[in-house]
Amino acid sequence: MALADKDRIFTNVYGFQPWNVDAAIARGDWDNTKDLLALGQDKIIDIMKASGLRGRGGAGFPTGMKWSFMPKESKDGRPSFLVINADESEPGSCKDREIIRHDPHKLIEGALVAGFAMRARAAYIYIRGEYIREAETLFAAVAEAYDRGFLGKNACGSGYDFDVFVHRGAGAYICGEETAMLESLEGKKGQPRLKPPFPAGAGLYGCPTTVNNVESIAVAPTILRRGAAWFASFGREKNEGTKLFQISGHVNTPCVVEEEMSISFRELIERHCGGIRGGWDNLLAVIPGGSSVPLVPAAQIMDAPMDFDGLKALGSGLGTAAVIVMDKSTDIVRAISRLSYFYKHESCGQCTPCREGTGWMWRVMERLRTGDADLSEIDTLQQVTKQVEGHTICALGDAAAWPIQGLIRHFRPEIERRITEKRGGGLAPMMEAAE
Ligand code: NAD
Ligand code: SF4
Repeated sequence: MALADKDRIFTNVYGFQPWNVDAAIARGDWDNTKDLLALGQDKIIDIMKASGLRGRGGAGFPTGMKWSFMPKESKDGRPSFLVINADESEPGSCKDREIIRHDPHKLIEGALVAGFAMRARAAYIYIRGEYIREAETLFAAVAEAYDRGFLGKNACGSGYDFDVFVHRGAGAYICGEETAMLESLEGKKGQPRLKPPFPAGAGLYGCPTTVNNVESIAVAPTILRRGAAWFASFGREKNEGTKLFQISGHVNTPCVVEEEMSISFRELIERHCGGIRGGWDNLLAVIPGGSSVPLVPAAQIMDAPMDFDGLKALGSGLGTAAVIVMDKSTDIVRAISRLSYFYKHESCGQCTPCREGTGWMWRVMERLRTGDADLSEIDTLQQVTKQVEGHTICALGDAAAWPIQGLIRHFRPEIERRITEKRGGGLAPMMEAAE
């Protein structure tokens, strides 16, 4: 079942109305926010837990549970912080950009509500360096919120003091990893920290910190207003709620759209994207969750529920719900090789399997692309991805390995075809060597 307009949280995602505070108030934002805060910290966290909201940045960690990890009382006078991850850089992802462009007050009100619930002193919104216009909008929207008394001392008349700071990144993908982001905020080189400790224990400046994605925070005020049961009525168990899907590639009308979780791929594309370019028979494969998750071949994804568990069952993932659609005109080996180059380029170089492995994997991928590899290298490449996966400090290593694994799993004959055709007449490499 598709989402009705009355159930959309992001009613201005296309920017048909202004983003400013008056327009936001007319859309229902900042409506008696003081009453939401009057629910109290524990109650707010209980509602968020009951809503079933899972982190919208890609990993899907339960949001209410994450908030509950924050200390109820300050130790040694240390403040707590909320950090909002607006460093959206995952290839295919562009939903946070739309929220900030067209609905920034949803995010700022969410920052206050979430920050209050976790007893944070302030929120830092870390916005991707390339989002220049969006940063300008965000700075202006935060200033509006201060002018109206929504932020700062006695925010919204609640008696709670809360500040929001906007911090611009400088273009490194890895600064979207939560601990690299904390390093960057502290003025250091953006390199991930080992976890544990998780940020809730030792985060920004060593203080308790929660890092949440823009969308996770921006939906919080609406969930509190409309209730956990309302939000949880969408999707299915453990995959509840509505979600911004970003559909790019070979569909007739690429778009960002809020839909019910668990909608089938086919319905998502038919309803919002005008179908596949050239018709459904022309679909080759889909990367359903941003470049870090493995591709899924056409036949498997058609009727799959677009949610965490549905895509996990196919060996892939929902990730950020950045759905990259590829039709049969796609050079699939080249597409994945290009992603390999991206991860090689963005590796922070801190740990050996990632620093060396990403470059190594990309070079082999390029040989597979042109057919200049040995057939045995397909298995060697697969083994290397397994050596990288799970053996690095942060998830970038996994993200570099998984797309290649997906390619080999589903398109091995295509890789082999290139190699054998290049060698002329389909001679196996061992036979060639023997001649
Ligand atoms: P993760 O699973 O390590 O952590 C997810 C969140 O849960 C983190 O905030 C972490 O601190 C918290 N957490 C997990 N276990 C915990 C525990 N035991 N105690 C306390 N807190 C705990 O994932 P990650 O490395 O933060 O993120 C990886 C995801 O990021 C990938 O799935 C990918 O899709 C996504 N990603 C998104 C973008 C983007 O542009 N939005 C870019 C790159 C990657
Ligand atoms: Fe850096 Fe890669 Fe190691 Fe992450 S996995 S810390 S990006 S070298």
